[in-house]
Amino acid sequence: MKNYILKLWQGFFTIMIGMKVTFRHLFIPAVTIQYPTVRPEMPERERNRLYVNMDDCIGCDICARACPVNCIDIETVKSVPGEDLGITTNGKKKALWVTTFDIDIAKCCYCELCVFPCPTDCIYMTDVYEFSEFERDNFIYDFVTLTPDEKEEKKKNREEFMIKKESEKAATAKMKAEEEAAKKNENVTKSKNNTDDKPEENKE
Ligand code: SF4
Ligand code: SF4
Repeated sequence: MKNYILKLWQGFFTIMIGMKVTFRHLFIPAVTIQYPTVRPEMPERERNRLYVNMDDCIGCDICARACPVNCIDIETVKSVPGEDLGITTNGKKKALWVTTFDIDIAKCCYCELCVFPCPTDCIYMTDVYEFSEFERDNFIYDFVTLTPDEKEEKKKNREEFMIKKESEKAATAKMKAEEEAAKKNENVTKSKNNTDDKPEENKE
């Protein structure tokens, strides 16, 4: 009987030790929250999903070059004379059409190295931290604001401008060469005339 009571006590005591933590938490405030109804407050310098304000992007490629994992892909097309792209919020003149600006956020390591060197402060971390996807391709964010037709138009304008410029350059070079050739011919004729005149002078 004594042994039975001892075992009973040991069982009860062991359960009490096991439940100690549980009992303690019954009387202290909970640290868990009812996510997603309740959202956690994020630290002041949190790093989450990137965003690019394309109105201020000048297409300088500095962010892409700063990225240690090459997850930013930028392509630009130079504007042609007569096109006004406007200026950025901090007064920088825009001269390039940004035709590709992709960030593969699945590769991003949230180092923020692309954010600091941006001359127009248009790439920055947002407070968005819930962006899970089923497809990996959906993690490639396209920030370009031009439509596919507009992209083609800008490329075509630049190509046509370059062709025109090249042909003008070639025409100028040709004209210059012709002028030089004419000058050379003139000089040759002059020196020939001088040589023809000399013997007669000598004869006299
Ligand atoms: S946060 Fe870092 S890894 Fe992510 S895009 Fe910027 S530079 Fe690249
Ligand atoms: S550094 Fe800034 S302005 Fe330059 S391409 Fe990147 S986002 Fe655009």
